[in-house]
Amino acid sequence: MSSILYLVLPCYNEEAVLPDTAAALERKYHTLMEQGKISRESKIMFVNDGSGDRTWSIITELFHKNPLFCGISLSRNRGHQNAVLAGLMTAGKKADAVISLDADLQQDMDAIDLMLEKFEHGCDVVYGVRNARDTDSFIKKNTALGFYKLMQFMGCEVITNHADYRLLSRRVIESLSEYEEVNLFLRGLIPAIGYPSDIVYFDVRERQAGESKYTMKKMISFAVDGITSFSIKPLQMITLLGFLMLFVSVIMVITTVVDYYTGRTVPGWASSYCSTWFIGSVQLLSLGIIGEYIGKIYMETKHRPKYHIESCLWREKEEGKE
Ligand code: UDP
Ligand code: MG
Repeated sequence: MSSILYLVLPCYNEEAVLPDTAAALERKYHTLMEQGKISRESKIMFVNDGSGDRTWSIITELFHKNPLFCGISLSRNRGHQNAVLAGLMTAGKKADAVISLDADLQQDMDAIDLMLEKFEHGCDVVYGVRNARDTDSFIKKNTALGFYKLMQFMGCEVITNHADYRLLSRRVIESLSEYEEVNLFLRGLIPAIGYPSDIVYFDVRERQAGESKYTMKKMISFAVDGITSFSIKPLQMITLLGFLMLFVSVIMVITTVVDYYTGRTVPGWASSYCSTWFIGSVQLLSLGIIGEYIGKIYMETKHRPKYHIESCLWREKEEGKE
């Protein structure tokens, strides 16, 4: 018997791409169903992440037109990671496997076939890894690659060039639901869960309409979140830096004492000026890094819910309600 596959698409102000995305996915799903690769109960789920445009009304229209589509709407914009999580948790109750992908369909949807194949062969997690970064700007390409390198250096097990296009089996989603952290970084969390996994490669194309919702500010805060949620290496580096500075200052004290007794003391304005600046900035940076972690602890201790579902477009066959 073929598996029930749910697709989860986070949508934030995506009115420009949604109709095309829905049409393309509908065709894809029909082919998959005809080929017997997925069950007829499979669905495409849109997660409206507090959009300010017509996104939710388009999703509602799609739902009423075709039983293939369903959707949930979050009470406000909670960010890409929380929107994906809300979709996974909702879809995970019905599906054997869930694939998350972006609503702009920049990620080649034909990789779904390969993901399904791997899933049928026993993989619980199938990561979509992009082939090339030709469609990205020079800055985006290099900051992204630098980010993966930095994450790996910090000891976080991320997969280079894997964004949030992946298949998860129902049991992985159940395990994921046991993670209560508020600072969500799925790319680090999923490899940490374990289970058999594999990789499929796919191409990325340009966004067909609308604009990227990942501004530079969002990307930086995403990177900081990723690092500080998964690694305490920056804190250890501060300690290392402290020892290094202590060593340097011991040498400085010795040379100063020697200079004093040999009568070579000079006003030394330049050196004290430079070291004041340097030490001051190191201290500020160190405090900032510690502050990042304390901020995280503060947020985690609140145990706040990560999202609220405001409305649900869902057909319950048994209950006969939407
Ligand atoms: N997205 C979201 N909430 C946000 C920002 C983005 O749900 O606060 C969704 C967006 O609608 C899209 C996906 O996350 O489906 C990836 O965003 P985008 O395509 O803008 O990012 P890029 O591909 O430029 O990195
Ligand atoms: Mg995109």
